[in-house]
Amino acid sequence: MTAAPAQSLWSATATAAPALAPLAGPRRADIAIIGAGYTGLSAALHLAAAGRVVLVLEAQALGTRASGLNGGQVIPGLKTDPDALEAWLGPERGARLVASVGAAPDLVFELIGRHAIDCDAVRSGWIQPATSQAALSELAGRVEQWRRRGAAVELLAAREVALLTGSRRYCGGLLDRRGGTVQPLSYVHGLARAVARSGAEICVHTPALHLRRAAREWQIETPHGAVSAPIVIVATNAYSGALVGALRRSIIVVPSFQVATMPLTQAQRAQILPGGQAASDTWHLLRYFRLAAGARLVLGARGTFGREPGPRSCRHHYRAVVEIYPQLAGVAFEYHWGGLVAMTRDHLPHLHELAPGLLAGLGYNGRGVAMATLMGRLLAQRALGMSDAELAFPVTPVRSIPLHGASSLAARAAIQYLRAVDSLARIHARLRGRSSWI
Ligand SMILES: Cc1cc2nc3c(=O)[nH]c(=O)nc-3n(C[C@H](O)[C@H](O)[C@H](O)COP(=O)(O)OP(=O)(O)OC[C@H]3O[C@@H](n4cnc5c(N)ncnc54)[C@H](O)[C@@H]3O)c2cc1C
Repeated sequence: MTAAPAQSLWSATATAAPALAPLAGPRRADIAIIGAGYTGLSAALHLAAAGRVVLVLEAQALGTRASGLNGGQVIPGLKTDPDALEAWLGPERGARLVASVGAAPDLVFELIGRHAIDCDAVRSGWIQPATSQAALSELAGRVEQWRRRGAAVELLAAREVALLTGSRRYCGGLLDRRGGTVQPLSYVHGLARAVARSGAEICVHTPALHLRRAAREWQIETPHGAVSAPIVIVATNAYSGALVGALRRSIIVVPSFQVATMPLTQAQRAQILPGGQAASDTWHLLRYFRLAAGARLVLGARGTFGREPGPRSCRHHYRAVVEIYPQLAGVAFEYHWGGLVAMTRDHLPHLHELAPGLLAGLGYNGRGVAMATLMGRLLAQRALGMSDAELAFPVTPVRSIPLHGASSLAARAAIQYLRAVDSLARIHARLRGRSSWI
C-alpha cells in the first residue's frame, strides 16, 4: 500500500497532450461546446466533420476530469437491460436505442482506428463476474436478451470465469465480446488531436462562467472574453457546476477511486486476466479491474465522499484486491487516484434540450467511455437538425431530483447501506462454506 500523494497511472503513461491555449479574446462560432471530455470532444469531432465552426471551452487542462481518470473499460449497453429499454420506448424506438448503445464500443474503436489514436486499445471483451447465484440468474437473463438480438454475449461457468480472470471468487459470469479497454487519458489526447486536425478549436483553462441568451445567440462569458454561438452544447457531466443549475440538480455525484499495483510478476501475469479482458463485478458497490501498462492491475471501487483519497481508501482497495486475488497478498500500489461519477435516478444517461439551441448530454452512471462518445455524436446530430424521432436516443426534459441536497446525503447513506449489505453477503457466504467465490 502507499500513502504517497494521489497520481494516476494514466497521467504517468499517457501519450503527450496536444499543445492547447486558453481563449484569447471574444469569438463567434456556429457551435460552442462547454467541456472537453469524451462527450464534448466527440461532439466537436462530428460537428467539425460536418463543416461547422466549432469552439470547445474547457475549464481545466485537458483530461483532468472523468475522461482522463476513469478505468478505461469500454462497456457496451446501459445498466438497463434491452427488454426494459424496449418496454420503455416501444419496439421500434426501443430497438434502435438498444442497437445504438450495444454498438457504442464500435464507435469508440472505429474513431480510434480512423484517427490513428495511440491509446493501447484492446478489444478483447468485457466480463461481468457474478458474486452470488441471484446475480448469476440476472446475468443469464441479460445474456439471453442480448443473444436474441444477435450480440456476441455469453454466459460463463465459474470455472470459465476463473480461467479468464485468474480469480476463483466468482460463481459464474457474463462475457461480452463487444467490449474492451483503452488508456483513457491517451484516448482524450487522441480525440483532441483529431478535433484540432478537423479544424475545430479547443481552449483550455477557459471556464464558462455565465451563459445567457442575447437576441438569437447564446453568450458565454469566460475570464478571457465572451463567446457567442447560436447553439451551445453543455458537456460537463459530473463536473456540472452552477453554470446550468438544473443539470447539476439532475444527477447525484459519487466518488470513485482507483489503485494501480506495481508491475505483476510473470507468473502472476500469466494467471490474472491472461486474455486482456476488463471486468466489473456484480457487488452492489461493484469492483472494476483490468490490467494496464507494465502489467499493473488497476482496480476501482466507490471512494469516500468529500475527502481526498488517501491511506484509508488504499487500505479498502487493498482488501478488495486480495479478496479477488489472494495470490497478490502483500502487493504494493504504485498509483492511486479518484474522480466523480454522475448517477441518475433512472440509471439512464440523458440528452436534454434545455432551451432552443441549448443542448446537454450527461449521466452515464459509470459507463461513459463508450456512452459519452456515443452521446457526443447524438448531440452533434441534434445540433445539425436531426429530429427527436430520428435520433437513436430520446430528447428528454431535464428533471431536478427533488430535495437535491438531501438526495446527495441520502446517496451517501445508501452507499454505506449497500456496503454493509455486501459485507453481510460475504460473511454469510463464508459461514455457508462458499468462501471460494465470495
Ligand atoms: C474513477 C472513475 C472511473 C470510471 N471508470 C469507467 C470505466 O471504466 N468505463 C466507463 O465506461 N466509464 C467509466 N467512468 C465514467 C466515465 O469516465 C465518464 O462517464 C465519462 O468520462 C464522462 O465524460 P464527459 O465528457 O461527459 O465528462 P468529463 O470527462 O468529466 O468532462 C467534463 C468536462 O467539463 C469541464 N467543465 C466543467 N464545468 C465547466 C465550465 N463551466 N466551463 C468549461 N468546462 C467545464 C470539466 O473540467 C471536464 O473536463 C469512470 C469515472 C470515474 C470518475
